[in-house]
Amino acid sequence: MTAHTTTDHLDDVAVVGGGPAGLIAALALAAAGRSVVHLAPPPPTDRRTSALLQGSVDLLERLGVWEAVRPQAAALRTMRLVDGSRRLLRAPETRFDASEIDLDAFGWNVENHVLTTALAARVAAEPAIRSLDAVARQVTVRGGFAEILTGDGDLLRAHLVVGADGRKSLVRDAAGIGTRERRYDQVALVLNCRHDGPHRDTSTEFHTETGPFTLVPLGDGRSSIVLVERPAVAERLAALSDADLGAELSRRSQRLLGTIEVDGPRQTYPLSSLKAASMTAPRIALVGEAAHAFPPIGAQGLNLGIRDVADLAKAVSRTGDDCGSDEVLAAYGRARRFDVASRQAGVDLLNRSLLTDFLPVQFARGLALQAARTISPLRRFLMREGLAPDYRPAGS
Ligand SMILES: Cc1cc2nc3c(=O)[nH]c(=O)nc-3n(C[C@H](O)[C@H](O)[C@H](O)COP(=O)(O)OP(=O)(O)OC[C@H]3O[C@@H](n4cnc5c(N)ncnc54)[C@H](O)[C@@H]3O)c2cc1C
Repeated sequence: MTAHTTTDHLDDVAVVGGGPAGLIAALALAAAGRSVVHLAPPPPTDRRTSALLQGSVDLLERLGVWEAVRPQAAALRTMRLVDGSRRLLRAPETRFDASEIDLDAFGWNVENHVLTTALAARVAAEPAIRSLDAVARQVTVRGGFAEILTGDGDLLRAHLVVGADGRKSLVRDAAGIGTRERRYDQVALVLNCRHDGPHRDTSTEFHTETGPFTLVPLGDGRSSIVLVERPAVAERLAALSDADLGAELSRRSQRLLGTIEVDGPRQTYPLSSLKAASMTAPRIALVGEAAHAFPPIGAQGLNLGIRDVADLAKAVSRTGDDCGSDEVLAAYGRARRFDVASRQAGVDLLNRSLLTDFLPVQFARGLALQAARTISPLRRFLMREGLAPDYRPAGS
């Protein structure tokens, strides 16, 4: 039998997971005045970028992380949606400009490893956070606190356990929270590229019969690409030489950015969606992909996870000693209900509307985009809602 190190020490919060949601949660909860133990085994290689919307940037600024990220992030000032399908009913091109809602940019695109490196450095410098390079093996709720058995055999105790441990969350399973999952017949091919045409700070999302194909600025003459395709096609593209893949991407992007050259390795992600039946259980709160995951459309995934963290920190900061009480968890669950449900439904609907050949659905999508293109109050509403529900710039 393994010898366990037992401790009587009781932290306010134990955060499980060293991905972006877990790192931000550790910092935000420490900033809310709590002692945090953070279980953060080294994360797997992540070659994705994240388009961080302005609300996420506001939080990273408050946590003292943005200064280190900003020099390596690219502004997204215009969002362009292009119907790249060959269907009979094609939607009109729609552009949104951040200046229409008095913002300098909708957000900033940054490589995930740049973001997590800056977050980890800030976590390491925060005295209220004790970081352990260990996995959680078991989580048990004991009444006034929860206990975590780590992979190293240590036993940790905290008032609140935050499950930021991704799609296959052990914390979620230990709490008995069920999930609804949907597999899509789609794989995302992810890579960075260089191009000889300017991107003009514009992120372009081509909507095709097999899913979105997105080019997002990543610096001068550089962009990140997410190409969603049927699995067999994605695997075939992923196996091409750099030169052949670059030529294929130039063709698919209608040479919008001129000639595209692959810049660095690629990665593929099979797409699926997941929704936890609840964001909370006694002594447990879920954040990020442990609670919700969906296909990469409109840069919603991590931004939604960051809003989870912001709402959890708010609920925790409004209470006394016991930050894992039923009241705190109920307030957190209430705060997240509408945002999570509406994002999940919206992204799923849009993704499925791309895949279907059913003409009335194509017609409705075209009408919706036409309305978004021409009706100014609706445009402004969609732009603000795209950033966050009721988004207001920091300080306003
Ligand atoms: C192709 C693609 C493009 C995307 N682009 C964007 C975008 O532009 N903007 C955006 O907002 N979102 C985007 N997303 C979504 C975004 O990448 C995810 O929402 C985000 O990475 C999830 O972060 P997370 O910290 O919740 O989970 P993860 O990154 O999965 O982190 C979970 C962590 O928990 C750890 N862990 C697991 N089990 C344990 C355990 N038992 N004990 C301790 N640790 C554990 C893992 O090692 C991992 O490090 C994209 C997604 C895809 C697939």
